[in-house]
Amino acid sequence: SMYMSTGLDVWTMMNQIAASVNAVNLGQGYMSFPPKEFIKKAAQNTFAESTHNQYAPPRGRPALLGQLGARFTEKLGRPIDPNSEVSVHAGANEALLSVFTAFLEHCKGHEVILMEPAFDQYTPNIIMAGGKPVYVPLRVHPNKNPSENVISSKDWKLDINELESAVNENTRILVLNTPHNPVGKVFTREELEAIGAVAERHNLLIVSDEVYEHLTYDVEHVSIATLPGMWDRTITVGSAGKLFGVTGWRVGWAVGPEELIKPTLSAHTRIVFTSNTPLQEGIAASLKQAKENDFFNIQRQEYQCRRDRLTAIFDDVGLPYVAPDGAYYLLANASSIRIPQDYDFPQFIEERGDNFKLVYFFTKEFGVSGIPPTEFYSDAHKNLAKDYIRFAFCKTDKELEEAKRCLQKLK
Ligand code: GLN
Repeated sequence: SMYMSTGLDVWTMMNQIAASVNAVNLGQGYMSFPPKEFIKKAAQNTFAESTHNQYAPPRGRPALLGQLGARFTEKLGRPIDPNSEVSVHAGANEALLSVFTAFLEHCKGHEVILMEPAFDQYTPNIIMAGGKPVYVPLRVHPNKNPSENVISSKDWKLDINELESAVNENTRILVLNTPHNPVGKVFTREELEAIGAVAERHNLLIVSDEVYEHLTYDVEHVSIATLPGMWDRTITVGSAGKLFGVTGWRVGWAVGPEELIKPTLSAHTRIVFTSNTPLQEGIAASLKQAKENDFFNIQRQEYQCRRDRLTAIFDDVGLPYVAPDGAYYLLANASSIRIPQDYDFPQFIEERGDNFKLVYFFTKEFGVSGIPPTEFYSDAHKNLAKDYIRFAFCKTDKELEEAKRCLQKLK
């Protein structure tokens, strides 16, 4: 199997390297600050209820389904029936695996189109489900020169002709991720219309990973499911871990028309049966309170400050980057970093190529760790990301301050 030969996943590997050299860890996108009091309380209170400690229905706890129905009725501008158009999952990861499992058939040679960079979990999930990933990279216009200038995540564009050329009669699913990890791109309405038209022409199912929907900075987040004709062919995936800064709770969801959610729920039932009950209740209570205390707007501002802190550091030390409009990652362009010819890399880094070497070197020499974005690319397109290092800014002020101090060495 593919697991016999694969080494460490990039997250575990980079966490270990960061810890071994005591670097400021801006690698894996988890929050290094605690969730807000009302979120912690919501979880603590739930254990007292005896039913909250037992299996949930596979679709999810009624309280959470109710909250999600209300949230998506508002977000998508149409009445969402929580008992047929929503399913709760063990994180957005498992929602995606359930969708791929439900709709891909190996014997039919089903293919799935991914836009690169593509979050590293998509590919193995598609292969596990019997599908074949096909890659279309986002591209930066050749006259932009990102190794010398700060560019915008808006400058990373999908070539619609290139997308359409990747479609054939076996193509079943198109995966979209907006806001995008790691680029920070928030697809515009016009871009989504063009993507949607391709899906419509070739009768593709759209899987829209919108786990960072609540984190956009001065741009509008558009769900593709709200565009004319798109609801019927779209499954929108979301995450409580991202929404409330509790990535370890493993609660996510899928929303879409009954014909699409029904098979997704059947797959989910056979993969994990249900997601954990108490934290579903914790999220249900948190969603209710978030509405009352304007939590998502406050949180967005906090993340915007973190983003501005990180971009200010790179502005100060003169390392160009891709300015993100959403999510909590930044791609820094480190093409100006020179690695000594005789620098000693461990074998497990050496064999993963130049981008891993760059990130390893950067972590050791500057004391700030990131993620090598080539891990988000197929072999054919890895060169597009070779100069970049991804840094996460869902981190404390103290860590960002420390990163600033460390990176002065770049001056
Ligand atoms: N989504 C997070 C990131 O991109 C965590 C990914 C993971 O650990 N699988 O950093």
